[in-house]
Amino acid sequence: MSAAGFHGSKYCWMNGKIMSTDEALVSPMESIHLGIFEGIKAYVKGDVLGEGELSIFGWKGHIDRLWRSAEVNGLTMPYSKDELLEAVRACIIRNDYTKNTYIQPRIWPKGSWGSTDSHVVVPVWPFETLLGKGNPLFGEERRFMVSSWRRISSDALPPQAKSWANYLNSMHAIREARRCGYDNAVFLDNRGFVSEGTLACLMMVRDGKVITTPVTASILESVTRGAFIEFIPDLGYPVEVRDVTRVELYASDEAFLCGTGGECTPITSVDDIKFGSGYPGPITTEIAEYYAEILAGNVKKYKHWLTSV
Ligand code: PMP
Repeated sequence: MSAAGFHGSKYCWMNGKIMSTDEALVSPMESIHLGIFEGIKAYVKGDVLGEGELSIFGWKGHIDRLWRSAEVNGLTMPYSKDELLEAVRACIIRNDYTKNTYIQPRIWPKGSWGSTDSHVVVPVWPFETLLGKGNPLFGEERRFMVSSWRRISSDALPPQAKSWANYLNSMHAIREARRCGYDNAVFLDNRGFVSEGTLACLMMVRDGKVITTPVTASILESVTRGAFIEFIPDLGYPVEVRDVTRVELYASDEAFLCGTGGECTPITSVDDIKFGSGYPGPITTEIAEYYAEILAGNVKKYKHWLTSV
């Protein structure tokens, strides 16, 4: 399979120019495993299930985190944030994308460890959203388990840097979950408190309140989580950011993931204990519908979170 065939993306931006994905080649000796990346999404304006012009959600939060990840991991960024935004725009336009598009800037040291120059690649590819009214993907059953793997903690690797190395932790938890017959897993942190999902943050609903775990629970400082904390109170539900025990998670009325990839994903059960108030939960559904409107640019108050392609 060609590189382009992998995600159906014909062109990417690499080290300053747009090129065919098949021609964006690097030496097998490159230290790609020392790299960092970002996961960003651009949604169709007006209707996330439609087609047309796109806008990028949370650009500032994502690009600032990319810079922080580079700094923490000792990587040099050879381009400015504005240059990367132009790279993303050029890449989406060159690929002729008019449907929701995932953007994944990847940075790794040129040559070997300690290099003061980096490769920067921006691949983009289409994705299928689970948001939008009547979307059948939203209500699919998702059975989770509490992983026997703990989420990496900052005494070993920086959980707040989005580096590829951190994702091996997630892969172990996902593989364990599949092996045990579950769809995915929830991590506990090194203290035994609930941390997050394998690829997204976690939110719970209890007695009309939304609860999410703190940055000190070894989570990735999620851009989506930050937005959710800000907009959920508009719907009349207070948000608490605090430690959550495993049993409190079991006792929740509803639980869902939030993240760029995960969007707002309802969870059916954890360790075969079903959440209380039916599935998908009514508050989760309300939040997901509001989020879809925000992403489509239909909520004036949050238009500043969107950047036109
Ligand atoms: N936690 C992990 C481990 C993730 O991979 C992601 C996805 N980037 C998130 C949380 C959510 O972060 P964000 O909302 O910034 O995408």
